Amino acid sequence: MHCPFCGANDTRVTDSRLVAEGDQVRRRRQCAGCHERFTTYETAELIMPRVVKSDGSRESFDEQKLRAGMLRALEKRPVSTEAIETAIERIRQTLRARGDREINAREIGESVMQALKQLDQVAYIRFASVYRKFQDLDEFRAEIDRLSQEP
Ligand SMILES: [Zn+2]
Repeated sequence: MHCPFCGANDTRVTDSRLVAEGDQVRRRRQCAGCHERFTTYETAELIMPRVVKSDGSRESFDEQKLRAGMLRALEKRPVSTEAIETAIERIRQTLRARGDREINAREIGESVMQALKQLDQVAYIRFASVYRKFQDLDEFRAEIDRLSQEP
C-alpha cells in the first residue's frame, strides 16, 4: 500500500484490529519514508444480485432507494434508526444468501413489506397501499383485516 503522503511504497502495519462487530479490519500503518501514520479499513466486497424490474430492464441493487422507501413509510412513526438499519441489513443478507445473480424487484418489495410488518403496522399499511396500488378504502380495510387476523 502506497503512502498517501509521500507516495513511498514501503509502509508497515503497526496495529490491526477487528471493528464493526468483526466485519471490518482496521489497520494502523506507518510510512517507512516520511514516517506519517494513517489508517486503512478492510471489508469484504459482497456482490448484490441485479434487480429485474417489471418491464424487464435491469438495474443495480440500490440500498439508498430501499432505505428511502422504508423511511417514507416510517415517517413520524416510533421506530428507532437502529431497528430500521437492522431490518435493512437483514433484507440485504436474505437477498445475498439466495446466491442468485438476479432478483425480481417484486421480491424485494415483498421483503420490505415483511420487514415493515414486524417494525410498525401503520408503516406497513402505508407501504402496502402504495406498493400494491390500493384503489379505494375497501382495499385498505381488507389489508387491515388480514393484518389483524395474523398472530
Ligand atoms: Zn510517506
